[in-house]
Amino acid sequence: MLIGFRLIEKRFDVVVVGAGILGVCIGYLLSRTFRGKILVLEREDMPAVHTSSRNTGVIHRPFYIDPDKKKLSAASAQKSYFLWLELARKFGLPWNPAGTLEIATTEEDVKALDRYGKWAALNGMKQDEFAIMDYMDLKNYDDSLNGYGAILSKTDTSVSFGNFTRKIMELAMEEGIQFIPDFAVTRIDEDGDAVNITGVRGDDPVLITANFLFNAAGGESLRLAHQLGLAGKYAVLHFRGDYWTLGDSFKTAVRHNLYSVPRHMKFPFLDPHLIIRHDGSMEIGPNAALVSGPYAYGEHVSRLSLAGKIVERPVYPKLKLISSPEFISLVRSEWKSSRSKEHMAARVRRFLPSLEDSHLDGRGISGVRNSLVDNNGFVAEAVIEKGSSSIHILNYNSPGATGAPAFAAHIIKLVSAGGFMNLDKRKTDSDHDIWVDLAGDL
Ligand SMILES: Cc1cc2nc3c(=O)[nH]c(=O)nc-3n(C[C@H](O)[C@H](O)[C@H](O)COP(=O)(O)OP(=O)(O)OC[C@H]3O[C@@H](n4cnc5c(N)ncnc54)[C@H](O)[C@@H]3O)c2cc1C
Repeated sequence: MLIGFRLIEKRFDVVVVGAGILGVCIGYLLSRTFRGKILVLEREDMPAVHTSSRNTGVIHRPFYIDPDKKKLSAASAQKSYFLWLELARKFGLPWNPAGTLEIATTEEDVKALDRYGKWAALNGMKQDEFAIMDYMDLKNYDDSLNGYGAILSKTDTSVSFGNFTRKIMELAMEEGIQFIPDFAVTRIDEDGDAVNITGVRGDDPVLITANFLFNAAGGESLRLAHQLGLAGKYAVLHFRGDYWTLGDSFKTAVRHNLYSVPRHMKFPFLDPHLIIRHDGSMEIGPNAALVSGPYAYGEHVSRLSLAGKIVERPVYPKLKLISSPEFISLVRSEWKSSRSKEHMAARVRRFLPSLEDSHLDGRGISGVRNSLVDNNGFVAEAVIEKGSSSIHILNYNSPGATGAPAFAAHIIKLVSAGGFMNLDKRKTDSDHDIWVDLAGDL
């Protein structure tokens, strides 16, 4: 029922819902390749308020990504690295090539290091970008670290993805796209060759119509896809990653981000890392505490706060998970790391024994991961669902910020191949930077 809605623009060729790093990259690449009227809608008052700012801030090089099982993710991370480098150089944005040392904390984990070496090369990293260390190499490199070996990825880089996103939005607006902040999309309906997008701006209900819609709404993208009858087999669970800042009392010779080889490959639970932020400050985190929604940053985690989430449909994928003792024990442990810095510190001490509880001197900025589950458990890769005039990106998780430009290009290519938009009218009056080259590949 559309009567009573105020039209703020008659019609757009393309509407992108969500000004996180993915939606903004889609908007920018469209602005350089497509001459139609493009609009980006965002519920907050500026881009990148949620996950795209609330993350670890590492441009991950793809040494740890299986090129067979996660081809798109690996290729997106590899290709996008050079675009971020160019953007940072051109606009003087923070770029701290701190590197990452991923440590094998058990003898078993050493096998993963060999796999990583192969994947790094297969995914396109140059041989001098990484080094595999055995036990003695690691001891000689830094004897404050505890492990059976490690891989050093020298080009992992700490940045502010929030700054990157806002800069790209600025560039997109210079290219003529429109951005409406403070616009919460409440409902989408496909109607023949168009999509009706209803939402609220301030207190006003608003209707916008588009020929095509990109759903890049992060933690709300599944809810919007369900409204079109898409992605019905998936449910979403939200995991909050909390961080602790390290104070001046923490004296260390460590120069890299420190990660450990993940222990639970079928769950999205990485053990916390030591992170060197883009400004050189250090933090410990994140954990993965199950919470009730995508914006539950301050929520005290408890079974009660989750009850409503569990009964949202579809229920079965969640019931199956919560009946797994391994999952429940992990959830408990992750909650503990949110409540207690002692618990968080103990997890990092496995590879950094000199870390003391008192070194953790304050809370960092938490972020929420939105993980899709189906009847087989957690879904590993991003999910792309197509409607008759829309495309929906779900489960867009780490290293999603790293890979966003190339992933956005991939999505646009899919839409264009489906005949929904003509990208031939490429703009030629802009700088020929490598973003345009990427768009040229579309
Ligand atoms: C703890 C943590 C650490 C991470 N660390 C890294 C890392 O180091 N490196 C890396 O590459 N990746 C990392 N990631 C992953 C990365 O941050 C995400 O993959 C990426 O930010 C997702 O971007 P997005 O644009 O899809 O989502 P978001 O940033 O969540 O953007 C979605 C946008 O849509 C808007 N929106 C939602 N619903 C509506 C609506 N109804 N109407 C209008 N607007 C709406 C939201 O307000 C939001 O701005 C991390 C993630 C987490 C949780």
